Amino acid sequence: MINIDVMTLFPEIFETVLSTSIIGRARKRGFLDIKMHQIRDYAKDKHKRVDDEPYGGGKGMVMKTQPIYDCFKEVCKLRGTKPKLIYMSPKGRRLNQQVAKSLVLDPNICILCGHYEGIDERIIGSIVDDQISIGDYVLTGGELPALVLIDVISRMVPGVLSDNVCFQEESHYDGKLEYPQYTRPFEWMGMKVPSVLISGHHKNIDEWKKRQSILETEKYRKDLL
Ligand code: SAM
Repeated sequence: MINIDVMTLFPEIFETVLSTSIIGRARKRGFLDIKMHQIRDYAKDKHKRVDDEPYGGGKGMVMKTQPIYDCFKEVCKLRGTKPKLIYMSPKGRRLNQQVAKSLVLDPNICILCGHYEGIDERIIGSIVDDQISIGDYVLTGGELPALVLIDVISRMVPGVLSDNVCFQEESHYDGKLEYPQYTRPFEWMGMKVPSVLISGHHKNIDEWKKRQSILETEKYRKDLL
């Protein structure tokens, strides 16, 4: 069980993705408690402004401190604890399976999504615990990166997949890529499934999978070996 809170200006982006398939079912079954929080609800002025021009000039708008801070205070109150606050940022440490493995150990995570030119630096200095990037490119907002982070974390929460083996045998979990997968029919367009996989000999199948996993890694991602 893990609690994930998301602070965003666009909560509607999340609902479809997080209500569908494996994540949707895991939420219904109580393995994941994911809540979206609209930062704009915490803006205090009558126009509900959440951004302002950058000091020193420059293009775009910067998200203000107060609505984010008050939104986070509400999340802390709701959860009865201070969740680990992760800001999705192109400046953050790069997300990979090892980073995700360490994040899933925390039972309370709050994700902050920036927009426009990003957020006032003083939020990072005061309440942000970690900054995560999903790659060396800049997106419009932190919502897609947050969805990526939520997905990779969620599928490692015990109970979300039918068996922990499901993610432990997959690419990147132990630093290698997964072996090739096949399903019916046995023969398609003249190509047959490797015969060991229908032999019923579990030891040989396991050995084949281990060997193929190394070969796949050599073929596609030599840098991992
Ligand atoms: N001005 C910022 C900069 O140059 O570093 C970029 C701001 S970006 C347009 C707006 C928001 O999108 C960021 O605050 C962040 O939350 C999110 N974002 C953009 N690219 C991202 C990435 N590669 N990984 C994680 N978050 C990202």
